[in-house]
Amino acid sequence: MEPGTHTIVIVGGGFAGTTLARALDARRVPGLQVTLISDESTTTFHPMLPEAVGASVFPEQVVAPLREMLDFQRGDRFVMGRVTDVDPHARTLRCETLAGRRDLRYDELVLAFGNRARLDLMPGMALHALPLKTVGDAMHIRNVVLRRLACIELETDAELRREIGHFVVIGGGFSGVEVAGELVDCLASIRRFYPRVAADELKVTLLHDLDRLLPEMSPRLADAALRSLQRRGVTVQLRTRASAIHERGVRLEGGSGLAAQTVISTIGTRPNSLATELGLATERGRVIVEPDLSASGHQHVWALGDCASVPNGFDGKASPATAQFAVRQAQQLATNLLARRRGQPTRPFKARPRGMMAAIGRHNGVAEVFGFSFSGLPAWLLWRAYYLSQMPTLRRKLRLWVEWTWGMFFPADITHLRFTRSAELPVHERGAGV
Ligand SMILES: Cc1cc2nc3c(=O)[nH]c(=O)nc-3n(C[C@H](O)[C@H](O)[C@H](O)COP(=O)(O)OP(=O)(O)OC[C@H]3O[C@@H](n4cnc5c(N)ncnc54)[C@H](O)[C@@H]3O)c2cc1C
Repeated sequence: MEPGTHTIVIVGGGFAGTTLARALDARRVPGLQVTLISDESTTTFHPMLPEAVGASVFPEQVVAPLREMLDFQRGDRFVMGRVTDVDPHARTLRCETLAGRRDLRYDELVLAFGNRARLDLMPGMALHALPLKTVGDAMHIRNVVLRRLACIELETDAELRREIGHFVVIGGGFSGVEVAGELVDCLASIRRFYPRVAADELKVTLLHDLDRLLPEMSPRLADAALRSLQRRGVTVQLRTRASAIHERGVRLEGGSGLAAQTVISTIGTRPNSLATELGLATERGRVIVEPDLSASGHQHVWALGDCASVPNGFDGKASPATAQFAVRQAQQLATNLLARRRGQPTRPFKARPRGMMAAIGRHNGVAEVFGFSFSGLPAWLLWRAYYLSQMPTLRRKLRLWVEWTWGMFFPADITHLRFTRSAELPVHERGAGV
């Protein structure tokens, strides 16, 4: 590090961390170095994961390489590693990298490490439910769906065929509604490639314990989403709570059950354990921050996004854990970090919600933006346009625009990528003399 350099270290390359790095770059402050540390080399556009599950987009289209998002010309640094320890007094942190353990010094530390999927909410969940939080989860679910269809083709027992063809999604929030919608459209679109599978042997059920879907949206749009899902064949069970998951289905509160070999869980998030390990004050696992996003009781440490409990000066409530708020907190934090460096007062985070959007299937969405509500294709196009605008570099944006537009006119892709290495093949197939 050059003498006189002011180093801001950001932990986490998600919506919050990357927006902050780019906002700091845009200010072009001399002597400022931004180091982004993340345990993944890409940022994941989580809101698009359901589309990767439904094979509307390829998995590589819902991630963006962090190295494309940073400005190395201006001295930014990317370290691929997992932060395991922070010493706030010495202002150092430790991370595990591909090249071993590394210690880094910082002037200001920003925590943006998000949260994790929760798998201990009911018996059997960890073993039998499929969570959706990473691209790996999305690819796995997509492969499971394709495997199930291939299996039904060969199964002769009628009851078993229906159990294999039954996909249960738990949770009627954004991700649950999006996954159920994508799945039902995907199954309808790809069934033509599985001629021995009848339409009535495939079923998608969405379980939600409240009395309406999408509690974050207005009742009118939630109702539009419900009707759209039902019209396309999703069985929506409201006021229904799963109590256990097993190999052959879901047990419901009240004693009844559903026979289904695939259960996707979109409920519950677990705080990232680093939040508590760092000894920072937390609230339900999220780092408690002051209105200006500085960590309570810790100078030079800041937190934002899903890993932080951020009060919103607009309504006095804690900000919701959404991409929209992570992005807007990052923009405010860039201003505050630079103000702190100049010895000027920082400002509290204050943001009026701009609206909500959800893609609820192929070419189908619901949106509430700046007081206007709409659904169907216009909402879905707006949704896609927003995420396209968030992608880094014009080159990537153009490529995705072409690929997404092309994909709109064709059935979902049924390529089943298995990543089987030669060394993992059965011994007799590996070749002799080894
Ligand atoms: C399936 C799904 C659908 C969603 N749909 C919507 C939607 O429609 N609209 C919406 O607004 N929001 C949606 N969200 C929520 C939204 O994605 C999050 O609010 C947003 O991603 C939060 O951004 P973040 O940067 O705080 O965390 P993240 O995006 O989770 O990024 C955290 C980063 O930190 C890294 N990291 C974690 N621990 C460490 C460590 N110890 N060291 C180094 N790096 C670490 C992780 O690898 C990750 O890259 C959805 C989420 C999911 C899972």
